[in-house]
Formats: sequence, C-alpha cells, structure tokens
Amino acid sequence: MKNYRSLKQIQEDLYGGLISCQDLVESYLHRISQKPDINAFIETYADEAIKKAKEIDLKILNQNAGALAGLVIGVKDNICYKDHQSSASSQMLKGFTSTYSATVLDRLLEQDAIILGRLNCDEFAMGSSNENSTYGPVKNPINPRHVPGGSSGGSAAAVKADLCHAALGTDTGGSIRQPSAFCGVVGLKPTYGLVSRHGLIAFASSFDQIGPITKCIADSMEIMKAISGKDDFDSTCVGENILRQKNKKTKKTLRLAIINQAVEFPGIQAEIKDSFIKFVKSIEKRGHSTTRIDLPLLDYLSPAYYIMTTAEASSNLSRYDGIKYGYQHEAEDIDDLIKKTRTAGFGAEVKRRIMLGTFVLSSGYYEAYYKKAQKVRQMIKKETERILKKYDYILLPTTPNMPFQIGEKPNLIQRYHEDVFTVHANLSGHPALSFPIGSGKNFPVSAQLMGDYFSEKEMLQTAQSLQK
Ligand code: GLN
Repeated sequence: MKNYRSLKQIQEDLYGGLISCQDLVESYLHRISQKPDINAFIETYADEAIKKAKEIDLKILNQNAGALAGLVIGVKDNICYKDHQSSASSQMLKGFTSTYSATVLDRLLEQDAIILGRLNCDEFAMGSSNENSTYGPVKNPINPRHVPGGSSGGSAAAVKADLCHAALGTDTGGSIRQPSAFCGVVGLKPTYGLVSRHGLIAFASSFDQIGPITKCIADSMEIMKAISGKDDFDSTCVGENILRQKNKKTKKTLRLAIINQAVEFPGIQAEIKDSFIKFVKSIEKRGHSTTRIDLPLLDYLSPAYYIMTTAEASSNLSRYDGIKYGYQHEAEDIDDLIKKTRTAGFGAEVKRRIMLGTFVLSSGYYEAYYKKAQKVRQMIKKETERILKKYDYILLPTTPNMPFQIGEKPNLIQRYHEDVFTVHANLSGHPALSFPIGSGKNFPVSAQLMGDYFSEKEMLQTAQSLQK
C-alpha cells in the first residue's frame, strides 16, 4: 500500500477501484504490528474497523458514502468512544469504558471515517514529550531515540509513521501543535468554542480544544468540516461549522505580524530561527508584507498558563476518587480509599499539577497568583485582538527547541518552557495552525499561523498557499 499524502489521493484510488477501505485498514493494522516500538497505538479496534470498512466499501459501490470515506483515523486516549476504553493514559482510568461517544467521534462516524484505535498521550494531557504516560513513552518515528512531543505524541507519531492516515489530538497549551512540529506533520488548534468538548476527558476546560493532526493542510480542512460547529452538549461550543465561516481577508497580498520576542527568544535553537527567517523571506518575495512587532507580554504567558491550567485541573481531577470511575485501591474506609486510590492512580506530574493548582487557588494566594494570571489572560486577549485588527495573521515558530532525546530533560522548568510559543493561542482563544516550513539538521521545522476567532477556513487556505 502506498503512503498516501492526502485523503483526496486515497479517495481517487478508492473511487477508481484501485483499492478498498478494507485494504487500507488491513495495511494500517499490518504496519502497526510491524512497528510496535513507536508505542503510538495503545489499542486497535481491528475487527470493528474491518467490518466498518466493508460497509463503507459497499456504500462506495452504491455511491452513497460520506465525505470522509477512506479516512482511517486514530484517536487520542482522552476522547471517549462509546463501549470502548478511554484512560487518558493514566493508571487512574485503566479499564474505564465510556457509556457515550464524544461529539467529534459521532460526527466523524457520520461521514464514514473509520476509527482504528486509541493513541498514547501524556497522562491527562499534561506534558510536552509523551514521557508521562502509564503506557511508556512514544518514540519519534523520524528518530526513535527522540521524543515525538506531547501531549498528543501518539497521535503525531502515528500519522508520521503512517500507522493511520490522520488523528485527533487535544490542545490545552500546545499539545496538538508541538508534537505535530516535532514529527513534521500538520496540527490545528481551533478557536476555543469551534469544536465540541463533549466527551473529552477534561484537563483545563477553558483552554481545551480537540483538533486534527494530518499529513497535509487540506486534510485538516476536511476533518474540520465534519467536526466543527455548535453542539447542544457543550454550551461553550458556539462557532458555526467552518463551511459557514465567511472569508474576510480576500486580498491577494497579506500583512503578517512577526513577533520579535519569539524570533529573538533567548533559548531558541539556531536551526529553528534560521528556517523561520528563510521562510519569512520566501513569503516576502511573493509580495506579502511582514512586520516585526513587539510582544513583551510573551514572558508572562507560560507562568499565567501554568497557574490557570493547574487551578482548573485541580478541580476537574477531583472527580477521580476511586468510586465513580476506573481504578479503585483496597482500603479500610472511605477517606483511606480516596487517599490510596489517588496516590496510586495518578502519576507524578499529575499530582504535582493538582497540588500546584490547589495552592494557587487557596486563600491568601488566590490574589497573588490566580487573579494575576487572569489579568495576563485578559491582556493577551486584548493585545492579540488589537494586532489582528492591524495585520491579517501572526506568524511565529511553533517551538523554541528541536525534538530532544527521551530522558534528556529532567528539569521541569525546561520542559514547561517547551510551550512558550503555543500557550498564547490557548490563553487568548485564537486558532493556531502548525505546519512544516523547512528542515533542520535531523528534524523538520514548523511555524504557526494565528488568525482571528472562527477564521479557520480562510486560515487553512492561506497556510496552504504560504506553504507552496
Ligand atoms: N505541554 C503543555 C502542558 O503540559 C500543554 C499540554 C496540552 O496542551 N494538553 O500543560
């Protein structure tokens, strides 16, 4: 089976009778079995996927298949699928079977996508390297000694290694975009409120968004057409389906804002800076204007993100008490049960964040930390809106670092710094797309395009033309 670059290519061969959905599913399953070391798939739904493939093959024959026929997709292990296990790669939820499906999955299935299995991630989506998983680390398919990024590391690695054609990830502070950059694939963090969070195991509810990880920008669009738009099960999901988004920036030449503090970031690796500057020059050559702008707030974004998301996580994760879901420790009484379950069920990073979150919300510290972080969030929202009034898009590197080696970054603060360029879009709510723009010595380099709220359709089209 060839390595298809886009869903369009797959569908051409499907409708041309050269391949079937069943061939596709079988070849992905074969590849997964050949590459167990990548550790991306926690579980495959082999029988079901083949059964579904046969059904869709019949629909193709009868010319009544959905728009995503031929799309074989993997799903991050924090998105619930009815009658299937979802564990957020945590001991705490091992064995938990969901009684309902996330809206995004229902919508994919409606369009005849085939769900192949669930994908490894950092526990409760907390991390940037996929080393915080109860199933062990995921390996970067480009070089297995290196991390694939996180927390949607399994999703990005699976797409890169062609273990499935596309994947769903989730992004609270960069978890779709950073692993996409580390693996050289395309990742979209939609506007907050464009994609339903119903059925997503919550980390920080005012930040979390589900989005696609794909080989090309066109596929990101196809998946967004299926999953975006209002949902009665999520009152924060208010955006229209991207097909109904109106194009606002019809001009041929773009005005792009380049953030000085990102390009000149003290820790940015030369390979990234060089590729980025080269890319900016190529954009200018094509007649677009690029302007360096200052964003001194950048230094405050990571701290604000870690205060607010740990606060939300401490509340969201209080539901795991050993009674309602998943893992339950043996115990003498109820207090003992909760204590022992949470002690054994959560990994170190998750516990650290629950404690940090509880601390920043506690009386006496609330004003000093949480309140201040909220102010930073308001400021970055306003500032981004102001920038996007003047410019069509903001362009910045996705990460300051190239993929590091597994085990290389034991220092926590270093790891938290992985997100300096990505948390911006989650704090402000804007959409951000990470896509490959060049290559460094051993790994690809990506940039992010950030646009107005609910402008994904136009943003994806723009990125496609910039990437050419
Ligand atoms: N790396 C960030 C964190 O650990 C982002 C995680 C995410 O987006 N889920 O919080």
